[in-house]
Amino acid sequence: MKYISTRGKSEEVSSAQAIKNGLCPDGGLYVPESIPTLSEKELKRLSKLDYAGRAAKIISMFLTDYPKDELEALCRRAYSPERFGEHPAPVKKAGDLNVLELWHGPTCAFKDMALQLTPLLLSAALRLTGEKRTANILVATSGDTGKAALEGFCDVEQTKIAVFYPANGVSALQKLQMTTQEGKNVCVTGIDGNFDDAQTAVKTIFSDREFAESISDRSFFSSANSINWGRLVPQVVYYVSAYLDMASSGTIAFGDSIDVCVPTGNFGDILAGYIAKKMGVKISKLICASNSNRVLTDFFDTGLYDRRREFFTTVSPSMDILISSNLERMLYFVCGAEKTAGYMKDLSEKGSYHITPDELEKMREDYEGLCCDEQNTLKTVKEFWEKEKYLCDPHTAVALNCAKRYAADHSNPILVLSTASPYKFTPSVCKALGLGEAPDAFAAADILFAATGAPIPAGIEKVRKKPVRFPGCIAKDKIKDAVKEFLG
Ligand SMILES: *Cc1c(COP(=O)(O)O)cnc(C)c1O
Repeated sequence: MKYISTRGKSEEVSSAQAIKNGLCPDGGLYVPESIPTLSEKELKRLSKLDYAGRAAKIISMFLTDYPKDELEALCRRAYSPERFGEHPAPVKKAGDLNVLELWHGPTCAFKDMALQLTPLLLSAALRLTGEKRTANILVATSGDTGKAALEGFCDVEQTKIAVFYPANGVSALQKLQMTTQEGKNVCVTGIDGNFDDAQTAVKTIFSDREFAESISDRSFFSSANSINWGRLVPQVVYYVSAYLDMASSGTIAFGDSIDVCVPTGNFGDILAGYIAKKMGVKISKLICASNSNRVLTDFFDTGLYDRRREFFTTVSPSMDILISSNLERMLYFVCGAEKTAGYMKDLSEKGSYHITPDELEKMREDYEGLCCDEQNTLKTVKEFWEKEKYLCDPHTAVALNCAKRYAADHSNPILVLSTASPYKFTPSVCKALGLGEAPDAFAAADILFAATGAPIPAGIEKVRKKPVRFPGCIAKDKIKDAVKEFLG
């Protein structure tokens, strides 16, 4: 399987090379030249395997230059019970909705589902491509990717990782999880800007030829954001796996269609759902759930993507994004490389682009965009706890709210993706449940535990006692200097 650029101006490469590069030289994102499919028979065979076994089979269809045995071993390591407990991605019930919980990994957010594996895939890619230099991983994070990437790359040989997060745009616990990170090859820095500022600065460094040249004798840049294919492909697995689990448990009959509702920011998670659909999983609609930053909702309504709008800091900060990078891959699938390159140029030069009515109609065959404001997000946390005894975090609440409204006039069973443990966002969850304000994130966790009995995850308890190693915060135009300093 070869990988090509969404903007059509880069050479095709192997999957190992695509993972090593992160971003294409022409600024585009790598996509497989075709999407492999799973027959009904193959799906039924996958159904008999555990999560790691399913992951190895599905990922090997995309990463064809990786030895199959090695992929199996890497998946076993990444999705081990020590890292994820008994089932990495269980499907639970919350009233009429089915909830796919993706936060049982070490950092308590769905980013672990990919980032426990991505560093192993990158290490293997270095070997497969004969690369002897160090991979410098630059990460822009809206909160959860940073910690998950730090945990995944911590002390991985031949790699260094620098994380940039919006200093005032993450939860207190997310910040502590990152600033207390251990490891010799890590660096964490706050910036006085939002996620889009961090992401744009990092992408600019990736395409800075001069900078790359100046370090090229000993190292090179790569990415752990969902712009990297090695981050995206592990996410396809849980859509397939959840469908198979729903069929095995009798929630649906094998072959029934389901709709899937995904709390969305950078469009990586939901794009993995689209790929699962194209592989043959019976997903009818992908419901793209946004918070008050409803740029995607407006896009799916009108075909106009316009980032020139007010940016809101919300109770679901990991979705506070106005430039959803992975939408570029979707544009490529619908419009092809030439038009995608044009739209991306419009986005960076004018701040907006407008797809044609035909293109919009094609997108809407697969997607529906809905959004949920702050008040309704908190109300949903409370309602699901009181009515269904299901405790959720605010990101999941955005999706539960959208899914409930969608279900009112549609009949397919709905699978809602739950992307974070409620304990990652305890102050907001406590507020939603009327438990008052706590002085800090850990006091809030104790209050939430006392009120609900939901166990506090080990990954969160661990942070409680750790000293802060990275208190720094810099201006957003100083990111390049910080990277230079980190590389020495
Ligand atoms: C990252 C994240 C999202 C958004 O996922 P995308 O792939 O960026 O669309 C939603 N919820 C949580 C908790 C996250 O960490």
